[in-house]
Amino acid sequence: MMGMDLIFGPSVERGPRNRRIYLTFDDGPNERATAAILDTLANERVPAAFFMVGDHVRRFPNVAREVASAGHMVGNHTYNHVKLHFAGRQKIRTQLRKTHDAIESVTGVAPRSFRAPHGYRSPFLISIIVDMSYTVFGWTFGVFDTAKPGMEVIRRRVRKRLRPGAIVLLHDGDGYDPEGDRMQTADALPGIISDARQAGYEFGSLSELLNGGDMQKLGPQTHRGLE
Ligand SMILES: [Zn+2]
Repeated sequence: MMGMDLIFGPSVERGPRNRRIYLTFDDGPNERATAAILDTLANERVPAAFFMVGDHVRRFPNVAREVASAGHMVGNHTYNHVKLHFAGRQKIRTQLRKTHDAIESVTGVAPRSFRAPHGYRSPFLISIIVDMSYTVFGWTFGVFDTAKPGMEVIRRRVRKRLRPGAIVLLHDGDGYDPEGDRMQTADALPGIISDARQAGYEFGSLSELLNGGDMQKLGPQTHRGLE
């Protein structure tokens, strides 16, 4: 992966190989699904990360604020869910900056992380990320929950793919539709958490992996992107 990293910059796609996994939710905030997910996370005392679309943050500031005030990590996922490989340097910079400002002004917390829509990165991204002191996150696996295969299928796919250090990609919103329906994912979450715990996993916060994941604390092989 070193060649890709030289072009696109490092990206964190997995945590330390212990019995810890990381739940992440993209494309919100969403009035119904994000609220339901927050309830489950609070009941189960599980931390998560939410990579938010700036335009949705402006539409649903109260939901974004609730995510941050519950202590979950809020990351930047562009303003309009832009596919970066089609975008020029200035457009990417504007998309990230507008979203950063939206999240900071609404939640009071400046984001420190970015995830690219659809995972499409751009050679222009790295200098912008460095300027903003961001960490870029990918994911270990997704389960195509946006295709709405049913809550039991979403739950089962997560259970089958769990592995130590996994960063799990789920969706609490629709990147292109602020009213998009992600309730299957929200409804699957209690089962996902229960399955993971039964398999001996605990839940970590992605904020542990910011900035090289405090590599001194976690050890040198925690970051595939930086190896
Ligand atoms: Zn997305």
